[in-house]
Amino acid sequence: MAGRASIQSLQHLAMRVENSRGRKHPEPSHPYRNDYQRDRDRIVYSRAFRRLENKTQVFTRRFSDHFRNRLTHTIEVAQISRTIAGALGLNVDLVEALGLAHDIGHPPFGHAGEKALDAAMRAQGLSFDHNLHALRIVEDFELRAGFRGLNLTFEVREGIIKHSRDYGPQAFPELQEYRLGERPPLEAQLVDLTDEIAYNAADLDDGCEARILTLDEIRTEVCIFEDCYQEASARFPDVPAKLLLNEALKRMLDRMVTDLIQHTAEAAEQAAVKSLEDVRSYPHRLAGFSEKIEKQRRQAKEFLYSRLYFSPDLMPEKEMAERIITELFAFWMAHPEALPENYQEKVHQESLPRIICDYIAGMTDNYILEQHQKLLREPSSR
Ligand code: MG
Repeated sequence: MAGRASIQSLQHLAMRVENSRGRKHPEPSHPYRNDYQRDRDRIVYSRAFRRLENKTQVFTRRFSDHFRNRLTHTIEVAQISRTIAGALGLNVDLVEALGLAHDIGHPPFGHAGEKALDAAMRAQGLSFDHNLHALRIVEDFELRAGFRGLNLTFEVREGIIKHSRDYGPQAFPELQEYRLGERPPLEAQLVDLTDEIAYNAADLDDGCEARILTLDEIRTEVCIFEDCYQEASARFPDVPAKLLLNEALKRMLDRMVTDLIQHTAEAAEQAAVKSLEDVRSYPHRLAGFSEKIEKQRRQAKEFLYSRLYFSPDLMPEKEMAERIITELFAFWMAHPEALPENYQEKVHQESLPRIICDYIAGMTDNYILEQHQKLLREPSSR
């Protein structure tokens, strides 16, 4: 633990709430919650956040009640992000709000759903991106007295679209206010990496639980896991394999978190950044892993892609997801009068494909299955 105590604080690079660029619609301050704490609470109270419970993380057909869904994944990301931001002296409230918001723009059926929705939009000369969709949710779709959207602070909205991708300064002229040519604050940079720490460990766990992955193949092919597994079995020689798996994953997660904290502090020191403005104008992101852990992270990720995400066991549910989204999209393109009234009313502001895309993206797994069954009259037991 001595190593952790010696972490250099990045407090001087934190996004301080009193320096926020504020909300679009000014509001009086709250007596005991700062603006980022209020944003966190607004996200938790949004309908889009509650729908995460019924959205696929990796498994649409959950093999037991113990599998992650997008809500439990989101809670994991938020708590890991808080730990890291706290250790580095960064803004814990901002990172928590960003962690809780990071997946609210995800459509039903996980990445298969996102791919199908994007393909349907591309056929119309448009596209779908879950981060940009999340911005539309918090700026427009959630309704509150006094304004459309949740009226979140600038930095939370900025982090929602920028945490996991950079934009060319010329792209998306409508988003210029978000300083697209600049890096986001460290709090937003961290959320992208904690997302990956969380899902790498979780997907190894759920993949084993689903019996798609075996402990032996993980041990052989994922170095960081094997190191942690050996540590765990030396420490607990007599415990059952399932508990050793859990202990090894715990250690793997801790190792990646510790490395991210240490390496980000070192990278900031080496880059000689003195202020948040320096972080923003720095040519690349400063939050990151050491070379060794980055290599191990990539190996774990490649393993999950080849053995889990593209595993033949998950193909039927991914194909079903793509088919349902593609068919419903085509149905509403041909029958816009079958859309709910509040969506039909939007035809004066938006193109029909965008309206259908927004409608589908907001759906939970259950709801889209129901719609498909109702409108296209097919049995739901696929
Ligand atoms: Mg995520």
